[in-house]
Amino acid sequence: MHKAKLLAIHCIDLRFQEMIDEDVKNKANYGEFDRIAWPGASIDLENVKKAAEVSLRLHQPEEVTIYEHEDCGAYGEDNSFETHKQNAKKLEEALKSVNPNLNVTVKIATFEGVKEI
Ligand SMILES: [Zn+2]
Repeated sequence: MHKAKLLAIHCIDLRFQEMIDEDVKNKANYGEFDRIAWPGASIDLENVKKAAEVSLRLHQPEEVTIYEHEDCGAYGEDNSFETHKQNAKKLEEALKSVNPNLNVTVKIATFEGVKEI
């Protein structure tokens, strides 16, 4: 069994990948983390949860970072940090229902860098 240090979940958006990877690398190097890239990330709770469950089952990460990002095309009109935060919290709760011991961090990638929300 290969155990992951971290599961990183983020949108597909090309503009934020480099800064997200830099942030991930503070916690885990390539080869040490699972990644789910999905359009809009937590906005699509059911599909992202389903994918995350595979990572949790196969690679048992104890830590998950959910990366939202500003100006997300999947969000349309309401792209507020608050809406991103609410969706990420719902995903966090869904993942904790699978593994209550998970350590989940929610961040948002902005044009000025990655911030915790
Ligand atoms: Zn996006």
